[in-house]
Amino acid sequence: MTRNLQFDTAALTEQDHAHIIHPWIDLGQAKTQDLLIVAESEGAYIYDSDGHRMLDGMGGMWCVQIGYGRNEMAEAIAEQVRRMAYYSPFGKISTPPAIEFATRIAKYAPGDLKHVFFTTGGSTAVDSALRFVQFYFGFTGRPSKQHIITREYAYHGSTYLTASVSGKPADRAYLKFETETVHHLPVPNPYRRPEGMTEAEFCDKCVADLENKILELGPDNVACFIAEPLLASGGVIVPPKGYQRRTLEVCRKYGVLYISDEVVTGFGRLGEIFASEPVFDLVPDIITTAKGLTSGYVPLGAFLVSDRLYDAVTVPEAKGKYFTNGFTYSAHPVSCAAGLKNLDIIERENLCQHVRDIGPYFMKKFRELSDLPLVGDVRGSHLMLCLEFVKDKKTKEPMPAEWNFGNRIINETMPRGLLARPMGHLVVLSPPLIITKAQIDEAADALRGAIKAVTDSLMRDGLW
Ligand code: PMP
Repeated sequence: MTRNLQFDTAALTEQDHAHIIHPWIDLGQAKTQDLLIVAESEGAYIYDSDGHRMLDGMGGMWCVQIGYGRNEMAEAIAEQVRRMAYYSPFGKISTPPAIEFATRIAKYAPGDLKHVFFTTGGSTAVDSALRFVQFYFGFTGRPSKQHIITREYAYHGSTYLTASVSGKPADRAYLKFETETVHHLPVPNPYRRPEGMTEAEFCDKCVADLENKILELGPDNVACFIAEPLLASGGVIVPPKGYQRRTLEVCRKYGVLYISDEVVTGFGRLGEIFASEPVFDLVPDIITTAKGLTSGYVPLGAFLVSDRLYDAVTVPEAKGKYFTNGFTYSAHPVSCAAGLKNLDIIERENLCQHVRDIGPYFMKKFRELSDLPLVGDVRGSHLMLCLEFVKDKKTKEPMPAEWNFGNRIINETMPRGLLARPMGHLVVLSPPLIITKAQIDEAADALRGAIKAVTDSLMRDGLW
């Protein structure tokens, strides 16, 4: 399927190489590599600048829940721009879309997480949440509670502090991080658990890792534990059953706050607006969200905090004290108007139910690829999925980085009409929530063809 588009891909590529610095670019190829220039989009599909159509297996970047080209989103955004495009949300100033949106989100929040702090995206949501925790303990007379516990392979953002609490080894070269107060636990990845250990024993070990770390640091020094319910960018790692609930219990036992980072898992990706409580039996102290909050149409993020924490810092004695954290574009009225429309669509089209219904089919279709020789693990939940490729399925021996396997796979899926996300030896999928069974079949066929083609080429080159 193609569209006749009037873009000059070669000229755009040249200008891009000359002027754009891309996030997460391979710097050695930054000025020479071919680009995928995404020019148009509709439903679950995107079109490159040559008019070639691809199913968007990644939902942009885990975020385009309602799919592309929604006229009513365009109208809602335009209407807010015409009415009142921007005003600062600082201090006592507010706007109707921000008030209405916070009220709607709070209704979906678990427990008493009724207070919403809007930011500009996921990193600023997590950063702000961590700073709120710091403020909370300082203000309530426990300033020694400064330490943050996180996990290897976590991803929480790209600011100094959120990058510090992230833990993907490959992201840590050359840059400086906060190390004094940030502590990483081993990743709770059942696929790579020690040999001979059952999944239940592995869960015990992961929970004990947290408890031991709190005891080592001293509970009076530990502020919070931050965790994605499933580790998204770390490779859709699904912790062992019961892990989320049990780590919360450990936190409660020692007075450590729990931040559930739902930037990816929220807004329908796991079949709920917030997955923490319905999917993982977890009522944390703080939830962070972004991405699906507006389906990526415009940027927005937020953290939600409990009555308990918010009430403790909004007492009369706090007069003259400020939570000095916020952004020019916090609670941007246009973003909040888009968020409201996004939620209207998710509710009206029952997209969370659709994800609960179609999720098992999605997982099943891609699990079928496990019959291929290099597919080591297919893991995920609902509409979040990762294939881990290995050199040897029996020993789980990882692939050499030089194979550049994920990229090779994507180079083969694109001509077959599928765009997924390569991450080293992993390939990740997180499609728009509107995806149909026929589109899932289409994606699984494209991926199977690509894996076979790459495997053949490795054999031809004598590498495997
Ligand atoms: N938290 C999680 C769990 C994420 O996956 C991401 C982004 N992938 C972020 C935070 C950061 O969000 P953003 O890129 O919007 O700053």
